Amino acid sequence: MSKIAQNPFEIAQAQLDKAAKLLNLDEGTHQALREPLRELVVSLPVRMDDGKVKVFKGFRVQYNDARGACKGGIRFHPEETIDTVRALSAWMTWKTAVVDVPLGGGKGGIICNPKEMSQGELERLSRAYIRQVGRILGEKMDSPAPDVYTNAQIMAWMVDEYYWMNGENQFGMITGKPIALGGSLGRHDATARGGVYCVREAAKKLGLDNKSATYAIQGFGNAGQYAAVLHQEILGGGKLVAVSDSRGGIYNAAGLDPQAIVDHKLKTGAVSGFPGAKAITNDELLVLDVDLLYPAALEQVITGANANDIKAKVVCELANGPTTPEADEILLKNGVFVIPDFLANAGGVTVSYFEMVQNHYNYHWDIESVYERLDKKMTEAFTGVYAMLEERKADSIDMRTAAYLVAVSRVAEAMKLRGWV
Ligand code: NAD
Repeated sequence: MSKIAQNPFEIAQAQLDKAAKLLNLDEGTHQALREPLRELVVSLPVRMDDGKVKVFKGFRVQYNDARGACKGGIRFHPEETIDTVRALSAWMTWKTAVVDVPLGGGKGGIICNPKEMSQGELERLSRAYIRQVGRILGEKMDSPAPDVYTNAQIMAWMVDEYYWMNGENQFGMITGKPIALGGSLGRHDATARGGVYCVREAAKKLGLDNKSATYAIQGFGNAGQYAAVLHQEILGGGKLVAVSDSRGGIYNAAGLDPQAIVDHKLKTGAVSGFPGAKAITNDELLVLDVDLLYPAALEQVITGANANDIKAKVVCELANGPTTPEADEILLKNGVFVIPDFLANAGGVTVSYFEMVQNHYNYHWDIESVYERLDKKMTEAFTGVYAMLEERKADSIDMRTAAYLVAVSRVAEAMKLRGWV
């Protein structure tokens, strides 16, 4: 969550407005989809290691559950805002709908700086959040997951606190848990894997040769590192020419070895200084002459200021909200094919859904079954969105709008069938 220029919730609403117009959505349904159904704002008193009590602020936003229980991560961040959480909960609603899993969208957050907290303080904060928010959570109501600065250990504390509150092990109330506590195999790389499956399908449609295609990745955390490696593994080739993280980027026109950079970052804490590569800035990375660009770090990095300089043929948005609406228009005009965030990064929530299914019937799948089912879901989702793009050729829409049309009509249909609108 960087210093972002535009309010993300206003962006999410503007994107919905565009889709509502194209769908001729009735005014009542449109208005009902513009706002979250429920928001809970909580105060969390936590005893810190120095013996004093510090009060944190937390949120849980349940944007829409017409298609099933809300689903969405919990973020721990010093600059967390309710509007960021609202925007992300809206995007989760469209994400679960576009991959057609029977879930809705939600998101949570706590304003805190986990880098300055001990493990004990983090555990007490995580448990305090569940004591407050647990009353609206559950596998049939709302099931959170890890997100920015939260992880499997935090999910373990949270599912345990829920157990003490309710007296039962309801593992599906939260996902992204450790494997030993009901987590699913394949969750760790699911986001990147789903994005690469989308790239594979896009290449087929666009006639791009995956073996010779060059690619660059902004961000080298969970999503970026796995994308770097899986791109070559799944597509059977491709040349990685640049990657970056918060400390800057590296470039080598002759190609970089993804696994060697992962090892280098593990050893040194950054991608910079990788042997044989030239240093570049994050801004330079975005406008490199590559076939494929994966933004996998921050929001609003492709803007009106640099969109005209983007040379990639395909942008696969692993990050949430990396492209502003102004940039979208420029990219569409310039013929850049954008695989939008809530489709490109939906692999994570899809495997989270698989985790809930496995928890529910108390039987765990092997890794091959997870990959096979993820591939099927992502391929179907991409194909459905691409079909919408073709169907709406006369409206000159981009893939983001096509994905909105698919997702919004599914949520609107569920709301209508239930008699909500
Ligand atoms: P992460 O924290 O593991 O990694 C983030 C990376 O971005 C790090 O390498 C960091 O150094 C880098 N970064 C930070 N500031 C930067 C800057 N100014 N310039 C360039 N790089 C910078 O996070 P992640 O889980 O990989 O998530 C990355 C993006 O993908 C986020 O937008 C997240 O919401 C989205 N996403 C992730 C998942 C998932 O399952 N991990 C699922 C859906 C969406």
